[in-house]
Amino acid sequence: LEVVAGVEPRIAEAIRAELADQRESLKLIASENYASPATLLAMGNWFSDKYAEGTIGRRFYAGCKNVDTVEALAAEHARELFGAPYAYAQPHSGIDANLVAFWAVLAARVEAPALEKLGARLVNDLTEADWEELRHELGNQRMLGMSLDAGGHLTHGFRPNISGKMFQQRSYGTDPETGLLDYDELRRTAHEFKPLILVGGYSAYPRLVNFRIMREIADEVGATLHVDMAHFAGLVAGKVVTGDFDPVPHAHIVTTTTHKSLRGPRGGLVLAQEELAPQVDRGCPMVLGGPLPHVMAAKAVALAEARQPSFQDYAQRIVDNARALAEGLQRRGARLVTDGTDNHLVLLDVSSYGITGRQAEAALLESGIVTNRNAIPRDPNGNWFTTGIRVGTPALTTRGLGTAEMDVIADLMHTVLSGTTQGTGKDGAVSKAKHVLDPKVSDAVAQRASDL
Ligand code: PLP
Repeated sequence: LEVVAGVEPRIAEAIRAELADQRESLKLIASENYASPATLLAMGNWFSDKYAEGTIGRRFYAGCKNVDTVEALAAEHARELFGAPYAYAQPHSGIDANLVAFWAVLAARVEAPALEKLGARLVNDLTEADWEELRHELGNQRMLGMSLDAGGHLTHGFRPNISGKMFQQRSYGTDPETGLLDYDELRRTAHEFKPLILVGGYSAYPRLVNFRIMREIADEVGATLHVDMAHFAGLVAGKVVTGDFDPVPHAHIVTTTTHKSLRGPRGGLVLAQEELAPQVDRGCPMVLGGPLPHVMAAKAVALAEARQPSFQDYAQRIVDNARALAEGLQRRGARLVTDGTDNHLVLLDVSSYGITGRQAEAALLESGIVTNRNAIPRDPNGNWFTTGIRVGTPALTTRGLGTAEMDVIADLMHTVLSGTTQGTGKDGAVSKAKHVLDPKVSDAVAQRASDL
């Protein structure tokens, strides 16, 4: 950090402050983790300076043999770890991985001369007329994904994301009584809507999903099954999620981020059956620019770590901890969406505390507990203020915390939430964004959180 400080001391200071924050607070954000020193070090080096557009062995730049080594190793570890016929390690993020997957399916399944053109040429070479032709040709493609309030992700066909502009979208949700995915309803919707792509996977669903059934449904309607396992990839890697619940043997194409439960660098990965491999392999230049070789090096390291037997133990502890946290919260009277958890996350409905998700998030943060507010199914407060708090155990499990500590954390969360009331805005009216919490309570909880 001294080297960084010599150039821009404020950045060095921000890095130090971030480390201190991450050490002192309880990181319960379900999509975060602590990557290993080996992974972090593999990312901070001279590979960052290299351009390598193209694919392994076929680059648009000279001098890529070391990048080829790195990308091939990342892909090999991914194939071995997940038992996938083909892996693509270039996507810079989860969104990019999904975009590569969507375009690969379109390229494989849609008869569109404009798509051929796009695949064969650099995106920058396309004229406005090409794009128009393309939009026209793609106009009628359909995507069916999990609704946002049931736990789906923006990239699964929702308007603020390009997936919602490329496809006509419809959603499937969860049963209003149980909060569980309703496969009969999904089947009915799929038969009626006939999507080109059926998207499985989620960001905030606390249960396992049966991908064997989803594949059956996809086959019945001629859809390609794409599973975005970004959240639970670490549990698949650690063999805690297997059989019908492991998407890799069932889906045509699987995407993931590498930085959540998988505990790698920030980035994305695509796994595919052989028939989609050639199209995925054209992710760059189809939708990606130059790959990040330093991040691919870190992906290779993290995936190698995930192939160690100790990672299976880690994955099991993530799930044990989530269950202990859920039980601890429920014992203290909290209401959980779906009444519990089977995976790494718990979705807490904070309405029984008389506050919004936004108020709960702020009160917990002030008490050293970092979570994120999240919509619950049919959320009365909408996607911004929300009624839920999503908590996940991958990061604290990496830090070595176990089920006994989870019970302490449940107690700390309950203390904060039951001590928090709605605040008022400048006009004196109740504000969904403002909360009131006695600083004595938040300070005491923050101290206990930091001691854990
Ligand atoms: N897919 C799912 C299911 C996610 O939860 C997320 C991130 O939250 C993404 C994709 C996007 O990942 P990224 O932020 O790396 O683009």
